[in-house]
Amino acid sequence: MLSNHASRASTPAFYEVVPGLHALRDVFVNLYYVAVAPGQPRSPWVLIDAGLPGSATKIKRHAEAVFGANNPPVAILLTHGHFDHAGGLGGLLAAWPGVPLYAHPLELPYLTGRSSYPPPDPTVGGGLMAWNSFLYPKSPYDFNGRVQELPADGSVPGLPGWRWLPTPGHTAGHVSFFEPVRKVLVAGDAFTTVVAESGLATLSQKQVLHGPPAYFTPDWDAARTSVRHLADLAPEVAATGHGIAMHGETLRRALRTLGEYFDQLARPRAGRYAHEPAVADASGVRSVPPPVVSTWVKGLAVAGALLTIAGLALAGRKKKPKTYRAPYRDHPARPSRSLARQSPRGARPAGPHLPEA
Ligand SMILES: [Zn+2]
Ligand SMILES: [Zn+2]
Repeated sequence: MLSNHASRASTPAFYEVVPGLHALRDVFVNLYYVAVAPGQPRSPWVLIDAGLPGSATKIKRHAEAVFGANNPPVAILLTHGHFDHAGGLGGLLAAWPGVPLYAHPLELPYLTGRSSYPPPDPTVGGGLMAWNSFLYPKSPYDFNGRVQELPADGSVPGLPGWRWLPTPGHTAGHVSFFEPVRKVLVAGDAFTTVVAESGLATLSQKQVLHGPPAYFTPDWDAARTSVRHLADLAPEVAATGHGIAMHGETLRRALRTLGEYFDQLARPRAGRYAHEPAVADASGVRSVPPPVVSTWVKGLAVAGALLTIAGLALAGRKKKPKTYRAPYRDHPARPSRSLARQSPRGARPAGPHLPEA
């Protein structure tokens, strides 16, 4: 596992990743402020992603602290439209009526009320964030009249010198943003720098390079290609949707390893989308594999049985009840992924964190 030991304790919620790029951690998701003229007061700027629902006031407050009052962004860009990246848009678009919003054409169905995303798969990832994913908002946003397609030539509105790159897999229209001179990458959820499925890791923000959030990723072949493409860019810094930004050779080595061993490190071995993707086009989701009902139901049945046994045992012994340990430790849909047993070299490579039980 490669880590520079950054954590929530040492990294504030709002910080400057590199000159001109500020990050705001909104509970568990990041959004980014990019200055067109770093260091200049009241620089023009662009917002990348928009946090959780209800976050507009917080986002604007930090913008004013850096870029001054009454200085709205030149544009808002979305890496993708999941609720934790587009949640604050309603308030922001109302506050900034003339500011355009951009996303990839394949993301527009989910931002114009035409389609919901493929349903999450709570059986993969093996953490509190994954297990709760069936509770996350599902209805598509509708920003008709405000959202428009990113330019087809790869340029980025408001950010001269930056490029947008298609990085599908986590969503069909997922994009990353890259500045090739300083090699600054804003990668959304193409990969993360925290174990995004784990509630504990999300709280601590313990820094490790990791695949895209598994419960929300419906096309693992595309996600692998995207990670390899981003690794080929050899970024100097990666600012992701979840986790603290990573830098330098630590980042590059971990990203190369993630790309090379993506199926062992990131791809679920079982689960709804593990071997068959959701299919989507410009009108939205066309088909999804069937849910993993049997596995999920089996898990619930095992949980119920263990709860009953534990309750009976405790009642019989008349002792103070102990904390119940969730049965998912040996859940069949949550395989151990120790690369020591998977690597063709027979040893865990230096690189991304291997999520373990
Ligand atoms: Zn996402
Ligand atoms: Zn996300």
